Amino acid sequence: MTKALVKANIRTIYSHIVDQSPEHHFEFSDPFWVLITTILSHRTKDEVTDAAARKLFNKYRNAEGLASAPEKDVLEIIRRVGFSNVKAPRIINAARVILNEYAGKVPPNIEDLTRIKGVGRKTANVVLADAFRIPAIAVDTHVQRISNRLGISRSKDPAVVERELSKMVPKDLWIGFNPRLVEFGKKVCRPIGPRCDICQISEYCYYYAHIQRKGSSPNIPKRKAKATSGSTQAGRQ
Ligand code: SF4
Repeated sequence: MTKALVKANIRTIYSHIVDQSPEHHFEFSDPFWVLITTILSHRTKDEVTDAAARKLFNKYRNAEGLASAPEKDVLEIIRRVGFSNVKAPRIINAARVILNEYAGKVPPNIEDLTRIKGVGRKTANVVLADAFRIPAIAVDTHVQRISNRLGISRSKDPAVVERELSKMVPKDLWIGFNPRLVEFGKKVCRPIGPRCDICQISEYCYYYAHIQRKGSSPNIPKRKAKATSGSTQAGRQ
């Protein structure tokens, strides 16, 4: 029933989410730097990701520059980023693949993007939507949690959640969907202590209805943290 309710009211729900979420301005719009920033952002605070990406950009400028960077130099620049020892070789490798196999241009399709080591569907979808303005829904922990709580999906598998969201959310809302939900997830539907008291979509929410009915939160599946799967741009962890 909740899923049907959400589906029937998805545009209204999304407009309330937009109302309660500040607009997100990205540091970069160039596809290569969107990709690198997104890889860096997993389990890392916005300001740390932004600072590291900016320093990398200032020093290396493009795929060609980063592809030939010594790993120890890159590691030093990104040392405050989570899992920096994994991400340093990973971003250098991504730069090399893009330089050598795609003539320095990030490929604008999910098949090629996900062939790059460390780039999963989530990261690829961020690049497609944010950099290329191709409709795609990136499912990070915020999008997954909100989808689970609303009752859109019971799955803890991001690929399943993406599929279910894709069926429910009209395609014209896909670009910008992830950043809005991320902001909503940080400010309102927080991982711990969701602000149901101020939430404008509580009347559609499975989690909220469960608390009202039974006095306790429902059992929501937890997504397993991956150390190196890459996330969405700055802070979309
Ligand atoms: S009512 Fe609570 S759990 Fe449901 S979407 Fe709003 S903040 Fe999240």
